[in-house]
Parts: sequence; structure tokens; C-alpha cells
Amino acid sequence: GGLVVSFGEMLVDFVPTVAGVSLAEAPAFLKAPGGAPANVSIAVARLGGEAAFVGKLGDDEFGRMLAAILRDNAVDDGAVVFDAGARTALAFVTLRADGEREFMFYRNPSADMLLTADELNVDVIKRAAVFHYGSISLIAEPCRSAHLRAMEIAKEAGALLSYDPNPREALWSSREEARIKILSIWDQADIVKVSESEVEFLTGIDSVEDDVVMKLWRPTFKLLLVTLGGQGCKYYARDFRGVVPSYKIQQVDTTGAGDAFVGALLRKIVQDPSSLQDQEKLEEAIKFANACGAITTTRKGAIPSLPTEIEVLQLMENA
Ligand code: ATP
Repeated sequence: GGLVVSFGEMLVDFVPTVAGVSLAEAPAFLKAPGGAPANVSIAVARLGGEAAFVGKLGDDEFGRMLAAILRDNAVDDGAVVFDAGARTALAFVTLRADGEREFMFYRNPSADMLLTADELNVDVIKRAAVFHYGSISLIAEPCRSAHLRAMEIAKEAGALLSYDPNPREALWSSREEARIKILSIWDQADIVKVSESEVEFLTGIDSVEDDVVMKLWRPTFKLLLVTLGGQGCKYYARDFRGVVPSYKIQQVDTTGAGDAFVGALLRKIVQDPSSLQDQEKLEEAIKFANACGAITTTRKGAIPSLPTEIEVLQLMENA
């Protein structure tokens, strides 16, 4: 039990058929459904959890394809709305030689940016045990206001708010604008997950020492997580903190690892909310999330790589 509702963007990533080329050099592209909040909802459902996605798609073939992917993965798409006038967002994504991802977005504006507060499915949001979101949906109106309203509705109804900010700098007018807007909803969250590079982006300090991470802590938080790739994850709760190492795997493609990690953690938290107050239970939940993230890196793409609960438990047992 315990519904996880994810809010935000779902889009089609186009990924080169061959590795290590620039977008210009890519001979062809494969369609890969994505969008971090949508990935999280599918991660939860794949692990056997109850999940719903709230967002807007274009009333076009790609939009209908994405809604069908949610349904095929047992994610409730009843709160997905379609825009008759705008296209489903597209992103061309490639992994550069230095390992960094390069994005080229088609959002001018795309349907996801046009979700209005009036279009929110209040019933679904009110049923959330956890309401999860990122920061892409904060960039442009009217979606920004819809996002803020959805957070209010969820919080009023008693949901835990989970935030995974994502500084896609190319989508903001400046780096500073991104930082300020990402931090503008910081204090409302109960659970926040950042990566090492996001700690640097937000604090200006290239370190994940406790004193640096604690600059991002708020007294109202229940949990702050810093994912460390292959090193696992640091966690900060009200009364305890620590590091949980990840599992040894053969990494192929990290796309979706962070979303898999979040989905798995939220799945564990809705199953047993007392995990947030109990260090032993929390570490167990983080181990599960690390294993889920680790497995996702062993396969190409985000959604096709998300593991089932059995696969996650197998990796944990065999470690
Ligand atoms: P994304 O690449 O999706 O933006 P992220 O940067 O938020 O993700 P990472 O820190 O790369 O997230 O990975 C999330 C989690 O997945 C890690 O905390 C870890 O548990 C697991 N993970 C990622 N890479 C590896 C790896 N090479 N080996 C083991 N576990 C990994």
C-alpha cells in the first residue's frame, strides 16, 4: 500500500545508435521514453508499488505512446492530460567522450510546460502517500504555478514531499536563475535527493563533506540524500547520518540510475514510513535503493533497465 504520485515531465529522448559520438556525428537515433518524474513512477511500479504520474503530453503520436508506456508499466495515467496545440517534448541526448551528457531540447513550448493548475487531478494528488517532483517543471509558466499548487494540495492532504532537483542549465536563462528557483521550493520538502555535482551546483563548493552538505539541510527535512554513483549514498536524517556503499556491478549506461534509486527508496518509505526515524531500517531501505540504482546502470536506457523487486533482492543476497 501507499501511493507514490510523481509530478512533472515525460518526454521522448533520442539517443544515438552508437556510443561516444556528438549529436552532429550520430548516424541515427533510437527513441527512449524518459523524463525523471515519469521514470520514478515506473521504477516504483516495477518494484510492485502503487504509482501515478501527473503531467501533460502532446495530443500527438508520441504523447499517446508515452501514456501507453505508463499504463503498460502499471502506472496510473488517469491524471495525464493532453494539449491539443503543443507537441510532446523531445530531447536529443548523447554521451560525450568525457562522460558528460549533452542535451538538445525541443520545447518551444512543449505540452509539459503548458499544464495549468486547473488541469490538476486533485483526487489523485490527495491520495498520495508521497508526492515526488523535480525542478524542470518550475522553469516556465503555467506549469510552474501548477507545480506549486500540486505541492500545496499534496502537503495539505498529508503526503510526504520528495524533491529531486535537476539543474539542466540549458533550460534556464542563467545558472544563477536555476540555482535560485531550485532553492525557492527547498524548504517545503520532506525528502531531498541530490547528487555530488548538484551539491556543488547549489553550494558552490566542490565537496560532499558533512559541513558542506549540511548547508542544504533544513530543520523541517526528514531525509537528505547525496548519491555518489558507484560509491553509494550519504544520508542525513534528523537524529542520525551515515554512508551506505553500493554494489559491485558492470556499469554500461548510468541513464536512470538516480531515478531508479529514488523510486526504490520511496517504495520502501511508503511500505514502512517508520524507516525515516529508524537508522537500521533506513540503511536497509538505502541498500535496496543502491541495488536498484546499480542494476539500472548495467543495462542501456532508463525505463527498460529498471529492475523488479526480485532482481534487486537477488543482487543484495549475492553481494
Ligand atoms: P543520473 O545519472 O540518473 O542523473 P544521479 O547522478 O542522480 O543519476 P548516481 O549517483 O549516478 O545518480 O546514481 C544513483 C545511485 O545508483 C547511486 O547512489 C548508487 O546507489 C547507484 N549506482 C550508480 N552507479 C553505480 C555503479 N557504477 N555501481 C554501483 N551502484 C551505482
